Amino acid sequence: MPACPACMKDVRRRDSRCPECGVPLQLWEGTYFRLEEGTPPAALLAHFEKLMTDRLSREHKKFIAFRISRKTSQYKSSMVACERLIRIADMDLEAAKAAISLLFTDRTWSWKTFPMPYSRSLSEVFPAALAVARAQLDELRQEESREEQNYQATLDNSDLFPD
Ligand SMILES: [Zn+2]
Repeated sequence: MPACPACMKDVRRRDSRCPECGVPLQLWEGTYFRLEEGTPPAALLAHFEKLMTDRLSREHKKFIAFRISRKTSQYKSSMVACERLIRIADMDLEAAKAAISLLFTDRTWSWKTFPMPYSRSLSEVFPAALAVARAQLDELRQEESREEQNYQATLDNSDLFPD
């Protein structure tokens, strides 16, 4: 059963919004994604472009936008590569994005160059970065769920409407 990426609750109907938390959703390849981000491969490509823009701008000490122009074969190859990376991440777009971020920011990988999403250098190290990203996300999600439980317990234990 596909789950909402925002609240992780199962979505039972093909709603355009999650019936639990109300976030707008799109169904893509049997998995729900946030509608606001565009298709998942486009969202991942946009994330890659932003990281490259940041890197180039930092290196050249002026703003340099990295954007793969649409209608080119590089763009098609990039979209195919991004789709593949999302599948490797078991359709967890957040984890795929976090893994790409680590490639640009974690010193284990940040000294390498990843010219395009379909670069061999990227696909070689993506699984390792994904494992680190997943561990970090799991910790974050557990923390959020603990906070949610604490909040719920506080609500349950407090007398909100005294007679
Ligand atoms: Zn939801």
